[in-house]
Amino acid sequence: MSDSKAERVAGPKVTGESEVAEICRDLIRIDTSNYGDGSGPGERKAAEYVAEQLAEFGLEPQIFESAKGRASTVVRIEGEDRSRPGLLIHGHTDVVPANAADWTYDPFAGEIADGCVWGRGAVDMKDMDAMTLAVVRDRLRTGRKPPRDLVLAFVADEEAGGTYGARYLVDKHPGLFEGVTEAIGEVGGFSFTVNDQVRLYLVETAEKGMHWMRLTVEGRAGHGSMENDDNAITELCEAVARLGRHKFPLRITKTVRAFLDELSDALGVELDPENMDETLRVLGGIAKMIGTTLRNTAQPTMLGAGYKVNVIPGQATAHVDGRFLPGYEEEFLADLDRVLGPRVKRESLHSDKAIETGFDGALVEAMQLALKAEDPIARAVPYCLSGGTDAKSFQDLGIRCFGFAPLQLPPDLDFAGMFHGVDERVPVDGLKFGVRVLDRFIDAC
Ligand SMILES: [Zn+2]
Repeated sequence: MSDSKAERVAGPKVTGESEVAEICRDLIRIDTSNYGDGSGPGERKAAEYVAEQLAEFGLEPQIFESAKGRASTVVRIEGEDRSRPGLLIHGHTDVVPANAADWTYDPFAGEIADGCVWGRGAVDMKDMDAMTLAVVRDRLRTGRKPPRDLVLAFVADEEAGGTYGARYLVDKHPGLFEGVTEAIGEVGGFSFTVNDQVRLYLVETAEKGMHWMRLTVEGRAGHGSMENDDNAITELCEAVARLGRHKFPLRITKTVRAFLDELSDALGVELDPENMDETLRVLGGIAKMIGTTLRNTAQPTMLGAGYKVNVIPGQATAHVDGRFLPGYEEEFLADLDRVLGPRVKRESLHSDKAIETGFDGALVEAMQLALKAEDPIARAVPYCLSGGTDAKSFQDLGIRCFGFAPLQLPPDLDFAGMFHGVDERVPVDGLKFGVRVLDRFIDAC
């Protein structure tokens, strides 16, 4: 019987699984909205909360403040074999803003309802922060050392490019990551149930790069009543429309190739990379995520010109969000210029590199083993993220980065839609599953 006298006196045993939802809820209740202009509340309170959770079991976490309120917490946990290279587990503590009026529950209340923790950051990525804390606390509580050094980094500012978080730590305090060769973080490790024999867990091994661009066309200014064969708006709009409709060529990268190989093996069917429409149909809910990693993309997002209805302006501008695949940056820029034509001046306002690592090695084995032990129909597969994460900064230190924040999800949950979405939420069972997998993963890492 579980209702023994000893248990009544001691209370229920606290474990990583038993406290992970609470930690996730606590983190969600700390508003860390990142508006990208420094006007938000910052991450200081979250950094302090994380530090307390770690200090409770004797660790000595350090808090680094890159600018007022922009704080990150880092700690190193000694492993059994200190001669082995370290493993970094990183998560960001900031979130994108949320408009409470749109939500079922207040996005910063951390409501636990219908088997889920609700709130901004529930999947991006206070879930992984909470799982990491719960696992590490449990290991410290029960005196289980990791096989090698672990560095934990809970960082600020990922949602605005990481300048005050990961980028700052990598540039100003690289010594924190001394000897670290591999890392896990977002966005990967979540499940996609194909059928009752196969559940894929998508591990991120690559990220697209980006160019945020301004396009400018100079024309001949003049009176709106006059004929003008050099109207900047007309010229720019034609170029923008061409670009918006342009379909960049299909490019199967190493990661997408490996994804397709794994998928066709899991399904026991041939998947023709040339016929991706068919493949994407099989993928249902995650087709959007995979589809956008088959080619470069450039989406016009802003237009600007003119100041009065009867004045033809001398200049028109547009902004474009461009994303390129690992290995295809040059081709992307050449394609852009060809499509835009000679009249358009193109400037890159902000760019970031693409990254890619192989889906191989002992760490990938450890992921497979840990997943399989908790879910017999699990199969980890690599994929390319269409966006960017802090992995781009950590990769500058020569660290191999994987998106592995293990979560088992109900088949009908629109997980991709949760990121930055309304009613962002994470199943409590998914968090508990993640705790068990991460714990096994650390044992095997
Ligand atoms: Zn994120």
